Amino acid sequence: MQFKAIVLGALAATGVIAEDIVRACGTHDPTDAHIEQSKQFATEEAALALTGNESFRVAATTTVKVYVHVVASSQSKSGGYLSTSDVSGQISAMNKAYAPYGYQFTLAGTDFTVNSNWATNAYGSAEEPMKKALRKGNYADLNLYLVKDMGSILGFATFPDESGPGQSNFHLDGVVVASGTVPGGSLTNFNLGLTSVHEAGHWFGLYHTFQGGCSGQGGVDPIHNYMDYTYDTCYEEFTAGQNARINSYWKNYRAGK
Ligand SMILES: [Zn+2]
Repeated sequence: MQFKAIVLGALAATGVIAEDIVRACGTHDPTDAHIEQSKQFATEEAALALTGNESFRVAATTTVKVYVHVVASSQSKSGGYLSTSDVSGQISAMNKAYAPYGYQFTLAGTDFTVNSNWATNAYGSAEEPMKKALRKGNYADLNLYLVKDMGSILGFATFPDESGPGQSNFHLDGVVVASGTVPGGSLTNFNLGLTSVHEAGHWFGLYHTFQGGCSGQGGVDPIHNYMDYTYDTCYEEFTAGQNARINSYWKNYRAGK
């Protein structure tokens, strides 16, 4: 797990007092194999960009079915229980963020579970039983778990290369976020629904902006990038390169699967 101090540092410099919660993502670092695959895609993407050929794009707009699993410790808001309008607000936030990049999300189903173990230990011992019981659909379908809380992290996701169809860990595929991150949720500074946008970025194959061997240069932190660690209000964009990488992973790992 990586924590990023630079966000807090920047906020302190502007006189804003940091909240007790900082963005922390539990998605593990990419494996060596994943990094190698991404490098290979990068070569292909560069070649395509030179010819202006975007044939790696599956379609003008790819629509991803989403199965939402609300997992709360009780049937109250404080227990993490969400309404159907909270869920549709979350899907809308994802659609707004991904629309410029050719991806849309459609709600395929929502289920509600009260289980205090699953609701609080999904980043740990409850991940396996919770996902085994609740995951639906195919590898091209996004399973989004909205759980009460996971301690210090706001969310985590699986990468496209780690739990494919036919694999024994297929059921682990998906995105888990704290329910307080939905639009209007309880987590101040992180309640515009953009944690799910960030975690879906991992699910599509993206790393953090600060991962993958950027050594040496300091540079300016890309705080507006969805794959950085920042407040929801700072999130604005993916780069063209990230968009190409999403397309490459989608075509090779999830499309039609
Ligand atoms: Zn992350």
